[in-house]
Amino acid sequence: MPDLKFENANALYIHLPFCTSKCPYCDFYSVKYSKQRVDLYWAALFMELEELTHKVNNHLLQTIYLGGGTPSLVAPFFIGELIKKIKNKFRVIPAAEITIEINPASITEEKIIALKRAGINRLSVGIQSFNDQHLNFLGRRSSSENNKKILTLVDQYFDSYSADLIFALPEQSLKEFEIDLEEMLKFNPPHISLYNLEIHENTPFYQRYNQGELKLPTEEVDAEMYELALKKLKTAGYQHYEISNFARRGYRARHNYIYWLYQPYLALGPGAAAFDGNCRSQNLSDLSLYLKYYNPQNLSFAEFLESEVSQPAGRFRQNKQNQEIKIRELNCLSKKEKMAEYSFLALRTAKGLFYHKFYCQFKVDFKSLYKEEIAELKENNLIEEGNERIYLTDRGKEVANKVFLKFLLD
Ligand code: SF4
Repeated sequence: MPDLKFENANALYIHLPFCTSKCPYCDFYSVKYSKQRVDLYWAALFMELEELTHKVNNHLLQTIYLGGGTPSLVAPFFIGELIKKIKNKFRVIPAAEITIEINPASITEEKIIALKRAGINRLSVGIQSFNDQHLNFLGRRSSSENNKKILTLVDQYFDSYSADLIFALPEQSLKEFEIDLEEMLKFNPPHISLYNLEIHENTPFYQRYNQGELKLPTEEVDAEMYELALKKLKTAGYQHYEISNFARRGYRARHNYIYWLYQPYLALGPGAAAFDGNCRSQNLSDLSLYLKYYNPQNLSFAEFLESEVSQPAGRFRQNKQNQEIKIRELNCLSKKEKMAEYSFLALRTAKGLFYHKFYCQFKVDFKSLYKEEIAELKENNLIEEGNERIYLTDRGKEVANKVFLKFLLD
């Protein structure tokens, strides 16, 4: 399989695919956490990192993001070693944003401090709700009280962090969501992400939804919740800089912004996807396969570190055995697909899509290409046009997926 060659990727995503149990709405790739699995995984991850360094021309990193799964289940020692290794292999800028996702159910004050010492400078906290009934229904193992305790600790130790809420939950009323928002605002987090509950195929919620067991709020209530959030967060001084994201000045998520700007990014771990500006390369979501490919000798992490001392460079070698394993899928996009994707992503941001940037990227005039679509969306008050750009109106943000469909080309 041809490999990607990264010219200008400045962001690195690392997938840590371990969870204590599976939340019934979640379609992220994860397996059950065990110490032994993490140990084997870390040796494999270092091997993939080694391999990655040979595919990258420009070793400058501005952001590193550790997502999951539940990265906070992993001992901070591993995180520290990983960051050290990345800094050894890449030029990580001094002001780099280094984020880890944490779950209030698997974090303690000691771990928060240890993560900071390990080099993490931003936390993304999966609060999801402050309502015990909803947390329980979502399969979250934290309580409202624990969520508040953890947010207090996070705020004490970290200047930069984000807190997530999910809305439009089964049986959730507008009032209940308003209480969630108000609870969140008491902490005044520098960054807030708000996600609409999505029912994904191959999840227990999908089955229950199809059997009529999940009573989701109506589209009207869903829209009212979103409008309420926009109003409350604006009044509280947050900039609504992306459909689902709100930040105080200076606290936008720099890593995610690289995705929205359609810039290339690197990725490590099973299920993780990298993008070189033309093609997306996705590691298969299969930890066993990943371990077989990168760590066929089943080295523990300590053994791996020892072996590195005796063979300091180029530990990872393709051999006959792993050449036969298909570890990732490559998906190269047509120009039309890229133009559509670029448009969706740019329109997610408050700044919207600038015509001249689109032209620089594709040598195509956006206004001529989408003349009819722009006119129709403007007429329906879903987008606005100004200063050589288009951007979503508040109504457009509510039905963003429908707007995005307009930019798909035959
Ligand atoms: S903890 Fe996060 S990644 Fe794990 S199953 Fe729940 S939502 Fe998914």
